[in-house]
Amino acid sequence: MSLLQLKGLGPIKKKNLEKLSIFTIQDLLGYFPKSYEDRTQLIHLGEARDNIFGLFRVLLTSHPKTYRFKHKQSVTSFNATDGSSFCKISIFHHSFGKIDYQIGEEIYFYGKAKFENHRLIFQNPIIEKGLYGELGRIYPIYGLTEGISNKDIQQWIKEILVYYGNQIRENLPVEMLQELNLIDRKTALNNIHFPLNIEMAEKAKKRLSSEELFYFQLAIEQTIKDHILFGNGVSFSTQGDKNEFIKNIPYDLTNAQKKVLDEIWQDMESSKRMNRLIQGDVGSGKTILAFAAAWKAIQNGYQATIMAPTEILAKQHFETAREIFKDTIQLQLLIGLQNEKEKNSTYKGLQNGDIKLLIATHTAIQEKIEFAKLGLIVIDEQHRFGVKQRKALFQKGIVPDMIIMSATPIPRTLGMILYSDMDISVIDEMPPGRQVVNTYVVGIAMEERVINFACKEVDKGGQVYVICPLIEESEKLNLNAAQEVFHRLSTGYFKNYVSALIHGKMKADEKEKIMESFFKGEIDILISTTVIEVGVNVPNANLMIVYNAERFGLAQLHQLRGRVGRSSNKANCILFHMNPSEKSTERMRIIKSTNDGFLIAKMDMELRGIGDFFGTRQSGLPELKFADVLLDEERLNRIRCYVKILLEKDPNLLGNDIIKENLHYFLSKNTGMTM
Ligand code: ADP
Ligand code: MG
Repeated sequence: MSLLQLKGLGPIKKKNLEKLSIFTIQDLLGYFPKSYEDRTQLIHLGEARDNIFGLFRVLLTSHPKTYRFKHKQSVTSFNATDGSSFCKISIFHHSFGKIDYQIGEEIYFYGKAKFENHRLIFQNPIIEKGLYGELGRIYPIYGLTEGISNKDIQQWIKEILVYYGNQIRENLPVEMLQELNLIDRKTALNNIHFPLNIEMAEKAKKRLSSEELFYFQLAIEQTIKDHILFGNGVSFSTQGDKNEFIKNIPYDLTNAQKKVLDEIWQDMESSKRMNRLIQGDVGSGKTILAFAAAWKAIQNGYQATIMAPTEILAKQHFETAREIFKDTIQLQLLIGLQNEKEKNSTYKGLQNGDIKLLIATHTAIQEKIEFAKLGLIVIDEQHRFGVKQRKALFQKGIVPDMIIMSATPIPRTLGMILYSDMDISVIDEMPPGRQVVNTYVVGIAMEERVINFACKEVDKGGQVYVICPLIEESEKLNLNAAQEVFHRLSTGYFKNYVSALIHGKMKADEKEKIMESFFKGEIDILISTTVIEVGVNVPNANLMIVYNAERFGLAQLHQLRGRVGRSSNKANCILFHMNPSEKSTERMRIIKSTNDGFLIAKMDMELRGIGDFFGTRQSGLPELKFADVLLDEERLNRIRCYVKILLEKDPNLLGNDIIKENLHYFLSKNTGMTM
């Protein structure tokens, strides 16, 4: 069956549906209501409250009267009562023909109560003479787009359910249904769209969210199972005493760093391959732990490599490594900018084992590198859901011990899914004496004052970041946004200062060049999209200004804010809150009130749902329809178990056609995961 076979669905509506990512019957059936209206509970007019919806049964106490205005507009009104109180009902330019209610007649209606001068009024309620189609049931509300009505979607889905109902097959393991007390798939699909009652809607939601998570987890497990099968990793000996390394650091490690260092040491000394995610807020001191692990590997006669996402960051790590290791270890930097001769000598040194520690960019390492004896890989700032990147490494057959360092605090439960193959360490403490960045949320009316403040900052010798949003709908628009601000400011307020524009569409080396000059202090004001999110350290920058802050994920704002406050000078972050809504006001309140990245991440997820969590689509994270399961850790754990059990029994799903088919469908819908 194709969409066009549905009643009233022609080529135009089909095109419109595509805007909702609905291309097939299956997509449409999987297009769940975003909310429901409970149109089953009759209440009395006397119980009506301002702005609250309700279902009522009343008798007309007056004849409907119609007034006509210009442009064929009209309003029909009448009075009614249910004995508990009186009300007036008005229907504006109704398109459904004549209103044929009579005085004394009984009607049912559902609508929003309004009090005007103590008079109860309903405008455009849904009226029926009995509890038929639109009333007397839990009514689904769908996300809509132009040319598609709520009724359209309901009708089509009803048709699909009638037509297809008996072909809906169970796609979860029976034991899982039983243990988690989930209803079957057919009942769930019927009740998510047309719930018998609120309880059934809840049950449908619980079942379908469990199903979604099951497939999400299955998709991830399938991707990474390749390397799980690789088995044992390097078992480093007890060679390399922690304290010997710590001795050479110019500061004391925080307790959190010490704890994580212990975990790393344990992993390295065990025969199990280390596969560890180190999460820690920006500035929490992850880098030193990477060097510690590298040092340990090298003490055991292995090579190690640290990969950074940008050249400037690689260079920074290289400098830090030089300070720490002095001449005791043979270090090498590998970045795209180097000439062939230099690169070739690096390749040679790696191959014959002379170079012990390689610091490279993610891209540089993908070239023709061979190590004599690689024991450890550290991937820095791989905070963008690294399943894809990890897979690329495994495909090269590189399976040494591995550490991924991430500055994106993700809520625990989400981490359990995304990094289900990894152990997770958390650095939940900042080094002493760290600046708290003062955060201000202001309206755009304050722009002039804020910009003046920025100029003063520069006059005092500081540097400034100005961030413009990535606008999801259109990459182009987003560029214009940053470009427009740059153009306006660089020819206006900032005309006596050196300002520069940097954005994601620029070539990598262009970006690097600009970041480098900003780092060197040659640029006063850097106007940017979020490309600077990665962990470049410019301690002299002490002011961050963000336009359209409401457009960013909280975790993202928190990361951006972490770019400043890296010296002993006072640091400020000013957020322009430009389109306030209730939700965004709450989010701004959160970012202002706390500096705890994990708390921010958790609250952000609860507020916005996982789909929006990273604020951009580039995260490669699927848009889960239901986030509730992420708040239910116990259920989540059980579901993960069932995925594991299934894959243990049948790794290639050869005996599970239905599950396999559904997995393919899930992946086709979430191509961002590209597995
Ligand atoms: P991130 O976790 O963002 O990668 P870094 O490793 O870059 O953080 O550390 C930020 C800064 O803090 C660096 O300049 C580093 O030298 C310093 N640092 C790290 N650990 C400590 C510590 N325990 N005490 C004092 N300073 C520290
Ligand atoms: Mg870092």
